[in-house]
Amino acid sequence: VQQDIDISTQPKVERKRIGVLTSGGDSPGMNAAVRAIVRVAISRGCDAYAIFEGYEGLVNGGDMIKKFGWADVRGYLAIGGTLIGTARCASFRERKGRLSAAYNLIKNGIDALIVCGGDGSLTGADVLRSEWPGLLEDLIKEGRITIEEATRFKHLTVVGLVGSIDNDMSSTDITIGAVTSLHRICEAIDSISSTALSHSRAFVIEVMGRHCGWLALMAAVSTGADFVFIPERPPISDDWESEMCETLKKHRDLGKRMTIVIVAEGAIDKNLDPIRPEYIKKLLTDHGLDTRVTTLGHTQRGGKPCSFDRNLATIQGVEAVQAVLRATPDTPSPMIGIRENKITCEPLMKAVELTRQVAEAIAQKDFRRAMDLRDPEFSEDYQAYIDLAVVNEKLSLRENQCLRLGIIHIGAPAGGMNSATRAAVRYALNHGHIPVAIYNGFDGLLQDNLRELSWIDVDGWAGKGGSELGTNKINISELDVGMIAYQLQKHRINSLLLIGGFEAYTSLIELNRSRNQYPAFCIPMVCLPATISNNVPGTDFSLGSDTSLNAIVDSCDSIKQSASASRRRVFVVEVQGGHCGYLAVLAGLAVGATSAYIPEEGVSLKKLQADLNHLTRRFGEDKKGTSSGRLFLRNECVSNTYTTDVIASIFKSESRGLYDSRTSILGHIQQGGTPSPTDRIRATRLAVKCIKFLEQYALPPTSEKIVYPSIYTNVKESAAVIGIEGAQVIFTPVIDLLSETDMKNRKSTKTWWIHLKELVEILSKWGKITFFK
Ligand code: ATP
Repeated sequence: VQQDIDISTQPKVERKRIGVLTSGGDSPGMNAAVRAIVRVAISRGCDAYAIFEGYEGLVNGGDMIKKFGWADVRGYLAIGGTLIGTARCASFRERKGRLSAAYNLIKNGIDALIVCGGDGSLTGADVLRSEWPGLLEDLIKEGRITIEEATRFKHLTVVGLVGSIDNDMSSTDITIGAVTSLHRICEAIDSISSTALSHSRAFVIEVMGRHCGWLALMAAVSTGADFVFIPERPPISDDWESEMCETLKKHRDLGKRMTIVIVAEGAIDKNLDPIRPEYIKKLLTDHGLDTRVTTLGHTQRGGKPCSFDRNLATIQGVEAVQAVLRATPDTPSPMIGIRENKITCEPLMKAVELTRQVAEAIAQKDFRRAMDLRDPEFSEDYQAYIDLAVVNEKLSLRENQCLRLGIIHIGAPAGGMNSATRAAVRYALNHGHIPVAIYNGFDGLLQDNLRELSWIDVDGWAGKGGSELGTNKINISELDVGMIAYQLQKHRINSLLLIGGFEAYTSLIELNRSRNQYPAFCIPMVCLPATISNNVPGTDFSLGSDTSLNAIVDSCDSIKQSASASRRRVFVVEVQGGHCGYLAVLAGLAVGATSAYIPEEGVSLKKLQADLNHLTRRFGEDKKGTSSGRLFLRNECVSNTYTTDVIASIFKSESRGLYDSRTSILGHIQQGGTPSPTDRIRATRLAVKCIKFLEQYALPPTSEKIVYPSIYTNVKESAAVIGIEGAQVIFTPVIDLLSETDMKNRKSTKTWWIHLKELVEILSKWGKITFFK
């Protein structure tokens, strides 16, 4: 919970000197973490020190430790790698090296250290802290520090942040940099897919991950690869080679023109012997496939961080400073993580220990334990992947068990709609059901625009943007509901998956409401929220919102570059979202906007005046004209009076010549082209769960009077919205969501993200002091 407080009335916080370093392999988002740490430290009245080249800088001291001001981290958000450098430092592994490190910390007056790195780096930080009293004694003995200094620096506070592209740390759902790395892998595989398709080739693609198959598995899910090898789950069969070739042959027999096999660099068989890409290539070549190997290598380090990593690193960086200020000499060093979409702060060494246990479990061939030690989603995603990769179209069910599953896209296109449809179709087919595409929304249903889909029909949809089924914004209330019932009955649709945004949600409300009148709606129905606006009740995230955020962030990066190049320029950027400020706030945080104007707060003259004062101060102080440009994000519906043009004009006319202003309306590019890996993964996970949900309510009618539908249900639970809550997937009866729906503004009344709005301003406006409770 954050709250703006007048600093003059507050007791003084102890002025800490906080050092920050990045260590181990670089990962995208490390810079965002450094920026947040430096700026929040300054906001809290502390001093911030950057320690260059990881532990190397700590051991060597001198100008490798530098006090950082607010402006030193300007522009950090959008840059990949780590600007303060990283290194693998052998001398820090020795006590002698750590003695020098302690000396340099004390001489710089640094009493708290925030380390961003992998498990090795965090272990190093904890070793330093546990040895601290002994190191002080030695330094006194050697006459390098005084007793007064030792007394003053009696305790060293250490906080860890996990920066690693592998996502290999236990006790946190995701590490800083992993999602960006996945972006690069998916881009590479998407590109390879076009050449593979053209030449009808097979590609074996090696991705990073020595002990952790997260990148490999998620890349396989996101790109719809044909086979995957990960360290935690080696193939169980003695003859896995034949089984793999059989699976790939089935895919080809169905008409696939390309084959993609993904291999984690640490992939092994059940005897712990490595599975190498070259070996797989030989197997495939022997089976007549023209096969190439591609090792993605260092491109996976990621480069420019995606929106998620910028925000994760920023929020965790803020929490790291908070943890420093909360720390006592007796509390174990904490590691900042994230679980179920909530920032966590747990003992660092416990997490490191659990991480080590994964490698140990693999070494002991205890693969079940290795999987269990990963987060629960990992196993679920693995199972879902396997369910979709196999072909089992032969299974046939009795009519009253068989879902004749209608799949319909409603509203505007959103990234992940096709991925979800692909997953639903393949999962349904493999379980003996019949998926039926309803083209062009309910309008298409009324015009008999339906077709059964086969396994191969949805091939290549995992990474396709837009809506392959076609969609439109015609609201169900504009149509004849009786005719919709008639058409469902005519096409014997006995279960329905609605993929879309607020229109899909209100359609489900309407269908559910009409159940009394039309038995055709007494079938299991589920709405899978897919809209860039993220405004559907019942879920923290809708499909498409992540893709959209990345599209906005990319555009804003370019705009900011232009604004910075022209120096004194302010941009007011209009973003979509309907009456929901989610996109404006999350994009604002990821691009370092000065303010986000959102409907949940509104915009007023007072607010604009405060922002004008800030601009006057910022540009006024900048005599040399070196200041970067400023961005303001304005949600499209925030105000009818203060339009994007009006705000830009006010800024300009009040600028007293200090700066210029421009507008940019991002429009439909915000729907994004190719869906982001996060949206693809969510789509797959949720679509599979939707089919399981429909199966759960697929019960034959209990009364003989009912001849249609062949599956009959009218319990409220059987018309639900699937949602992500934290990391859990939940189903809420649509009727129960009415109480948390703002129908007028077409959005959920729950806004878990609203507190981040404050953070946007804290991190971009120097002098804004905020106390977090
Ligand atoms: P990555 O996941 O990229 O490998 P990492 O942090 O695990 O990151 P390491 O090379 O293991 O990378 O560690 C980085 C640095 O941390 C080492 O070069 C060393 O300086 C320090 N370090 C690692 N382990 C220890 C340890 N047990 N004691 C002291 N310092 C250590």
